[in-house]
Amino acid sequence: MPDAPPPTLRLRIDTSALASNWRTLDGMSGTAKAGAAVKANCYGLGVEACVPALRDAGAELFFVAHWSEVAAVARHVPPEQIAVLHGPITGDHAAYARSVGVLPVINSVMQARIWSDTGGGPCHLMIDTGINRLGINPHDLAEEAVQVLDVQILMSHLACADEASPMNEKQRAAFTSCHSAIKHSQLSLANSAGVALGSDYHFDVSRPGLSLYGGIPRAELAELIQQVAYPETAIMQVRNLVAGDCVGYNATFTADCDMRVGVVSLGYADGYLRSWAGNGFLTHAGRLLPLLGKVSMDMIVIDLTNAPELLEGDWLEVPYSLPEASQSSGLSQYELLTILGPRFH
Ligand SMILES: *Cc1c(COP(=O)(O)O)cnc(C)c1O
Repeated sequence: MPDAPPPTLRLRIDTSALASNWRTLDGMSGTAKAGAAVKANCYGLGVEACVPALRDAGAELFFVAHWSEVAAVARHVPPEQIAVLHGPITGDHAAYARSVGVLPVINSVMQARIWSDTGGGPCHLMIDTGINRLGINPHDLAEEAVQVLDVQILMSHLACADEASPMNEKQRAAFTSCHSAIKHSQLSLANSAGVALGSDYHFDVSRPGLSLYGGIPRAELAELIQQVAYPETAIMQVRNLVAGDCVGYNATFTADCDMRVGVVSLGYADGYLRSWAGNGFLTHAGRLLPLLGKVSMDMIVIDLTNAPELLEGDWLEVPYSLPEASQSSGLSQYELLTILGPRFH
C-alpha cells in the first residue's frame, strides 16, 4: 500500500515555545526542579514532537498515567526518568516496570504490597491530602508494606491550585505533616498552577503539565506562558450561496445575502466540538472567518467574505489560544488539548 497523501489537517507544534515554557516553570519553581507531565500523549500534542524538546530543555523526570504510555516516552529518555502515575494494579504491571526500568507511583497499601511482594526496588509514593483520587491515606503510612518501600519522591496532588482556595494551604500542611512518617529522597506537590502558588509549594520537584503546552490556569502565568499548539486546516471547496440558502445539518444558518463560503476539513471527530457553533471562527492572516451553521463530523462551513481571494487548498488557522478558546467554547484548557483528534498530521 502506498503512503497516504498529506492530510488536510495539521497541528503545528512550536517546540521552542514548549522548551521556553518548561524553562519558565523550572525557573518559577525556585530551588525545585521541574519535571514534565507527558501523560495522554503529551496532553494530545504528541510524544514524538514534545518529549525530545522537553528533554533537550532540561527536563529529567516524565510522568505518564498508563503503563501503555511508557514505551513511546522511553524511546526518548532513560527509563528511570519515567514515573507511572497509575501505579501497579497487578503483578504484571510490577513485572513490566522492572523489566523496562521505569518507576511506579505507589498509590495504596495494596499497590505497596504488590510492589514489595514482587521484589520491591525504587518507586515513588503518592499521598492523598484531600483530593481523594489516587493516593495513600496518611494514616496508612505506618503500614509495614509501605514502610519497607524505597521511596524516591514522596508526592501529593493539589485539588484547587487554580483557584484561591483554603484547600491549598490545608493540603500543603497535610503534606508537610507526613514527611517524617516515611523515608524518602525528595518531595513534590505542585502541578502547573501549584508552581504559581509560591515557594511554600515547590519542595524539590514540580510537576507541570498544562502550562508546558500553553495552558494558563492562573493569572500569574498569563504573560509568561506561550502558545504551543497551532491547529491548521485546509479549504476543500468554495461555494457561492445566494440569499435564502441555508447551511449544514438542521439548516441553522440562512444566508441573508449572496455570499462566498468555504467548506473546511475540520469536524467534531477532530475535536472541533459542536459547542463552537454560534461563536466559532477560523482566521487567515488575521482576518476572521466565522463558522456558519453546525459542526459536522468531518467538516465545517465558514464565511469567506473577509478573505475573498482564498481558494481550495488554502490553509486556515484555528484560533487556539487556550484561555480564549476555553472562554468561547466552554471547554477546559485541558480538554481543548486532549480532544484534538488523530487525523491531525
Ligand atoms: C496531570 C498531573 C499533573 C500535571 O498537572 P497540570 O495541572 O496539567 O499541570 C501533576 N501531577 C499529577 C499527579 C497529575 O496527575
